[in-house]
Amino acid sequence: MSSTGGERNHIETYFKSRIANYWLKGKNMANKDYYSVLGVDKNASEDEIKSAYRRLAKKYHPDLNNTEEAAAKFKEINEAYEVLGDAKKRANYDQFGSAEGNPFGNGGGGFGDFFGGGGGGFSDIFSDIFSAFGGRGEQARAKGSDINISIDLTFEEACFGCEKNVTITRHDKCSACRGTGAKNGTEFTTCRECNGTGRVRFQQNTLFGTTIREAGCPKCNGTGKIVKEKCPECNGRGEQKGSKTIKVKFPAGIDNGQTLRMRGEGNAVPNGDSGDLNIKVSVKPHKILIRKGNDLFMDLYLPFTTTLLGGKVDIPTLQGTYSLNIPELTPSGTVMRIKNKGVKALQREFYGDLLVTIKAEVPKGLDKETKAQLTQIAEKLGDNSYTKYSNFLKNMK
Ligand SMILES: [Zn+2]
Ligand SMILES: [Zn+2]
Repeated sequence: MSSTGGERNHIETYFKSRIANYWLKGKNMANKDYYSVLGVDKNASEDEIKSAYRRLAKKYHPDLNNTEEAAAKFKEINEAYEVLGDAKKRANYDQFGSAEGNPFGNGGGGFGDFFGGGGGGFSDIFSDIFSAFGGRGEQARAKGSDINISIDLTFEEACFGCEKNVTITRHDKCSACRGTGAKNGTEFTTCRECNGTGRVRFQQNTLFGTTIREAGCPKCNGTGKIVKEKCPECNGRGEQKGSKTIKVKFPAGIDNGQTLRMRGEGNAVPNGDSGDLNIKVSVKPHKILIRKGNDLFMDLYLPFTTTLLGGKVDIPTLQGTYSLNIPELTPSGTVMRIKNKGVKALQREFYGDLLVTIKAEVPKGLDKETKAQLTQIAEKLGDNSYTKYSNFLKNMK
């Protein structure tokens, strides 16, 4: 019964979405398929979208990459997630091709917020580790320079995370005057040049007559204040160079070559924000285990007799010694996967696996007696005990 109304609605929706798409294309935005940006299916669940976003955001995160392509990709991923990660925006996007829904319907508001872009709302995912979210591009304020250092971590420190005291030499705001450059931080007088406003007006004579212009007061550098007596600690500069020890928390799962950014722990400038401290991690290799992402790998060489007869072998894992059961007749090259004995993922309760490749090792040499015994065994087994070998012999004929 309601099919007529439903159909009409459908046609209307379709029509509106075409217009909306057209409208959006004019804005150069709607061509992007957010689903393909995140590499997920149109029917992907919230969790699938979230995990795809996290994986990609981590991969292209500016703190771990230094290329423009990565930065652009990162922006694209965030844009896609901002829409697909929000049930309402996603529904609108699915229907109208925009997060704001039907531009011709109610709700008004237009596309301002949507096109405004600027990230935000994602910081919960990376929170305290990668603090680079948002806040980029505040060019107006003075900013101190970044300090870049590298730190060696042991294999275990990187896998489990650790806290380290890192000592750096940096420019800090003078503690005696809190960066003001004035004795005790309070000894100011109001600038007489600008009467404390920080702005001055001056006349300019041009061909077209006299104009009044306004500019920052040169006497007080636009602060409106004049230092009565210079801070004796920093000689009025407002900053001091010195060594500083910072407690740095390296998160479990951090890997070789990754950089930890500590916002605001770089060099200070008077009347501005401090730069960042960038700590590049260099992880010492383990004697046996090789790490690739969250998984660990090792080659386990065993006496060839053990691969035939089976047995138990102690192997190292991050959580301590593990007794690995080698089944009878384990072919050389067999990979045994031990679940969750790998490395913890960054910022997630997820562990990789430990993959052990079994390799049969032959003895260094054979004495006469052993050789005779082995010859007996070989004859007893015969070629037909071996599937691949006997196939090979057949094919050779
Ligand atoms: Zn000072
Ligand atoms: Zn002034």
